[in-house]
Amino acid sequence: MYQRLEAGMIAAMNDASATAFVVSQGEELLTGQTVDTNSAWLCGKLTDLGFRVVGAATAADRTDAIADVLTRAVASADVVVCTGGLGPTEDDLTAEAAAIAFDDTVALNPEALEQVEAKYRAAGHTMAAANRRQAMLPTRAFIVPNGRGTAPGFGVTTAAGTRLFCLPGVPSEMKAMWHEVVRPALVEEGGVAAPRRFLFRVLGRGESQLQDLLGDVIAGFDGVVLGFRTAMPENQVKLVADPEVPADRFDAAVDAVRLLLGKDAFSEDEDVSLAAAIGELLVARGERLALAESCTGGLIGHLCVTEPGSSRWLERGFVTYSNAAKVSELGVLESTLEAQGAVAEEIAVQMAAGAREAGGVEWGIGVTGIAGPGGGTEAKPVGTVCVGIDGPAGSRVRTLFLPARGRDMVRRFSAVIALDMLRRQILRLN
Ligand code: AMP
Ligand code: MG
Repeated sequence: MYQRLEAGMIAAMNDASATAFVVSQGEELLTGQTVDTNSAWLCGKLTDLGFRVVGAATAADRTDAIADVLTRAVASADVVVCTGGLGPTEDDLTAEAAAIAFDDTVALNPEALEQVEAKYRAAGHTMAAANRRQAMLPTRAFIVPNGRGTAPGFGVTTAAGTRLFCLPGVPSEMKAMWHEVVRPALVEEGGVAAPRRFLFRVLGRGESQLQDLLGDVIAGFDGVVLGFRTAMPENQVKLVADPEVPADRFDAAVDAVRLLLGKDAFSEDEDVSLAAAIGELLVARGERLALAESCTGGLIGHLCVTEPGSSRWLERGFVTYSNAAKVSELGVLESTLEAQGAVAEEIAVQMAAGAREAGGVEWGIGVTGIAGPGGGTEAKPVGTVCVGIDGPAGSRVRTLFLPARGRDMVRRFSAVIALDMLRRQILRLN
């Protein structure tokens, strides 16, 4: 929704901008077996670059179907990016289709063949005959090298000046090739004036609260548009402006929003997650973290170790699901368990302190709760989760009453809110 909103905003601001069309290819996308994440990703990247994305289409594994979609795409946009269909098998038809669409033919491209063969040599294998197919490219195409997989991509500039890029369907390969080749080519040759944009990632405030908080302020900065996106429990606030809006006006709007959001903004970078932001804070202080997880079952640990370099700040994590494990691993008191049950603030604090002490580190998180669908009581319904933080600033504990909308949601919200509580505790010391 958010990408569409932003595209719309920019289109409204900049009708004269260059246009783009995204094509995806593959039977698996049309049968619903694979979700077309490539198109969404490319639409976002092209929009960020200042293109107005005028359409997206998916073609089946038939040469005529792909050629037809490519012909339409090229006729309606300045830049076309196509993914999929560059593999070694019979259903990989994009090169042939592109040749048909542009009155060209395919031929063995020696440079592409060398790249495919080199991949196999490097892996200590000999190339299968089928892989020669990956080097059959339209004769007028230039190669887009693939650093991660075997299938080289290619590009064609049509007689009318439209630029077409064909990339593999494997998302990691496609993304790397976008960053290494397509994006730089579009920026340098195309002279696209990218819109100004700035992102805040926020926890602790809902979308409507953010609108109330920021709406009037942003209205004071002519040409700066506010956009929201929810990725529960996170909310994202984006400022976008046409390139003609002066940089100092845009920067002043960013500063105003930053001031209003305060500690609720945990990141100003799409690629910097909550765990990464915490990692930065901990590394700067030379401190480390230990985890004691019951209902999140290792999810907080997962969020932490997803970040490269997390070994510098994550010491260990316990998944202590049973009462016995809470006692033996974390030193939780049996008397507290008997008196209050496993889901209690006191238990969460004891878990956090136990993990911190076991790890010999500065910070501990303890989480215990009822993820459901069973196990709830009147006093402690499903979605009741106690989060304890123990650290140099003392201990802090909260009971969350999360909506009982499924185990996954309760666990995910608990993990994110626990990390956010830790972040806020660390910030109190900074
Ligand atoms: P292909 O290059 O068509 O052989 O695609 C290789 C693999 O990439 C497919 O098996 C899919 O798993 C994946 N893939 C292809 N197209 C897409 C897409 N549009 N979005 C996400 N994944 C895709
Ligand atoms: Mg395919």
